[in-house]
Amino acid sequence: MAIIIDGREWAGKKREAAAFRTAALKKRGIVPCLAVILVGDNPASISYVNGKERALLEAGMKSRDIRLPADTAEEEILSLISGLNKDRLVHGILVQLPLPGHIQKDQVIAAIDPAKDVDGFHPVSAGNLILGRPGFIPCTPHGILVLLEEMKIPSAGAHVVVAGRSSIVGKPLANLLLKKEINATVTVCHTGSGDLGRYTRQADILVAAAGKAGLITADMVKEGAAVIDVGINRISDERSPKGYRLVGDVDFDAVAAKASYITPVPGGVGPMTIAMLLLNVVISAEAATEAATEIS
Ligand code: NAD
Repeated sequence: MAIIIDGREWAGKKREAAAFRTAALKKRGIVPCLAVILVGDNPASISYVNGKERALLEAGMKSRDIRLPADTAEEEILSLISGLNKDRLVHGILVQLPLPGHIQKDQVIAAIDPAKDVDGFHPVSAGNLILGRPGFIPCTPHGILVLLEEMKIPSAGAHVVVAGRSSIVGKPLANLLLKKEINATVTVCHTGSGDLGRYTRQADILVAAAGKAGLITADMVKEGAAVIDVGINRISDERSPKGYRLVGDVDFDAVAAKASYITPVPGGVGPMTIAMLLLNVVISAEAATEAATEIS
């Protein structure tokens, strides 16, 4: 039976560390601040944004909450970001995705100053990650790496198979794992990979990030593999007051019987994502403070 990785516990520790560093900055008169831009009223996005803002406040940081109607013009968002880039009281800028269809996501993300790109989605951040240079790391892949490290799951020499090649999870995670100091061998699977099990059965560490409930069944997992479930899927459940419940991409009970480690959904990777966001905001505020000290 697998050890269940308690993402809430590890995230709590990271959030405490972020709060500690925030308190140190506050003594110098600086309050780390994240501007959060939400366009439209997608219920899942509202819930994510509320969760992030609650976590910021709990860590002693500030959140600048910017909510815009779904029909906001792209130019208005670009001009808003331009103002936030120049605002010295703002250390991070987060644009909640997805954006309404008439807005070009890539243009909006590229408008954020890379020094405030705490989501790590800007092309400069992505390039730095690929090149192994310092820069903001996307929060979900970073959170996964922290869980592997904290649970002492060896990544050096391990074969990691990632199901999903998105720019926010699969690709940055693969680049992170390829860094020399982590030294994993990585296979990234996607909708064109064909027989997914052919790859996943070879994984020492399997990361499911496809957004498909029940995608990973026990027969697709090697005995003793560590399984990280990133997926968040709503499935209908009449017994739940909301009428649905959240599940991952992994058939949890059957896979847990075979794996060495497994993350639950909820309570696994999700809390880590928010914790790593808080850390990125503090890092950004610390860097801005250092830069200001050097200039003065
Ligand atoms: P996405 O839709 O952008 O990408 C999904 C990827 O999965 C694609 O690259 C696609 O090629 C691949 N895929 C789909 N079906 C597949 C299949 N049958 N076999 C192999 N690959 C397949 O999604 P995303 O934004 O990367 O998110 C993935 C999942 O992770 C979603 O459920 C999302 O809600 C969740 N998520 C969770 C967190 C968290 O904090 N826990 C953060 C981000 C995303």
